[in-house]
Amino acid sequence: MKKFLTALFLFSCLYSCAQVKNPDYFYVKTKDSLPFLKYGLGKDRLGGAKMTFLDSDVVLKVTDSVRDDYKVQLSQFHSAWIEKAKVAKTLPIEEKQYLTSSWNVYGDSLYDYVVISLDQKLPYKSEMKINPSRIVVDIFGAVSNTNWITQLSTARGIKNAWYEQPEDDVMRVIIELKHSQNWGYRIYYSENNKLTIRIKRQPRILNLSHLTIAVDAGHGGENIGATGVVSKIKEKDYTLLIAKELKKQLIKKKAKVVMTRTKDTTLSMFERIQYLGQQNPDLLISIHLNSSSQDTTSGVSTYYRYIGFRPLSEAILKSMLQLGLHEFGNVGSFNFSLNGPTDYPNCLVEVAFLSNKKDEKKILDPRFRRETAAKIIEGIEEFLKKL
Ligand SMILES: [Zn+2]
Repeated sequence: MKKFLTALFLFSCLYSCAQVKNPDYFYVKTKDSLPFLKYGLGKDRLGGAKMTFLDSDVVLKVTDSVRDDYKVQLSQFHSAWIEKAKVAKTLPIEEKQYLTSSWNVYGDSLYDYVVISLDQKLPYKSEMKINPSRIVVDIFGAVSNTNWITQLSTARGIKNAWYEQPEDDVMRVIIELKHSQNWGYRIYYSENNKLTIRIKRQPRILNLSHLTIAVDAGHGGENIGATGVVSKIKEKDYTLLIAKELKKQLIKKKAKVVMTRTKDTTLSMFERIQYLGQQNPDLLISIHLNSSSQDTTSGVSTYYRYIGFRPLSEAILKSMLQLGLHEFGNVGSFNFSLNGPTDYPNCLVEVAFLSNKKDEKKILDPRFRRETAAKIIEGIEEFLKKL
């Protein structure tokens, strides 16, 4: 009997020891530092391709770790990567069906809102769609218990809002907009884990005199950017000269202008995006000067990340080509930080190449810089005219 009891004791100990073995996953919470999910471990000068930005305090399940990144399981069939620096360890959350409740769709004097109550800050990703203009948000780990969606007439920019449940644990929010142009949106959790999609309406008067334009002069301070192939001028100084010229001419058109920097200041991308987020501009133009290891490469290019923001960058490129610059192109899905915000249509303008002698000569000419600013403005006006 004693032998039997000892065996039983040993067995139960082994069993319970196996039970308390550390699980091969743990949980983290996003920090308040513009955290974003990435598709994979890709690394180039722009970093890995971004899937989506996330709010802070979003809980993620970590299943793997490679160098500076964690792999996180979003749902049964979806995973992503996140920088370790963007999260902090947190207590486990209950693994259960996270049910969504009814939704409210409404507007205030500035924005329209789609608000979905959840009982946990679940991860999500968003996509901008065109023709028709839509915002699509996938909420991972969410199961629909949405049995009604109240849509008020105060939501003046939203045509329709509905959901689909494409997978057992992925709920898809679909918001169809009234205007073909997407003017931006922000996703965040408000109090009591309410997932909020705040949508900017199309401005009522599509004239520069009624709009706020943000102008970003690339680089600055310790970050000098590229250097001129012959003159050795610094990119940071000439982006600022063009940005200031742009501001001057925009003010002549009675636009409101916000600048990320007006001096030779060192500013991180995080600081720029945070500042712009507070300013709520209608549009953002970021000015850079390009550089290539091949000195024959030349010309002007404009860049966008989200397809819904492409029309602005196309119009600016078309206008700038009138300066007689070579067409380097209109570049999409561009993983540049200031093309990342979904809050406002944005366009990166790489005016010309500092690594090309002919282009460099142009950049050094104050008249060319004045004309560059004028053509960017003409491009914005053409963009507005088409809406
Ligand atoms: Zn640059």
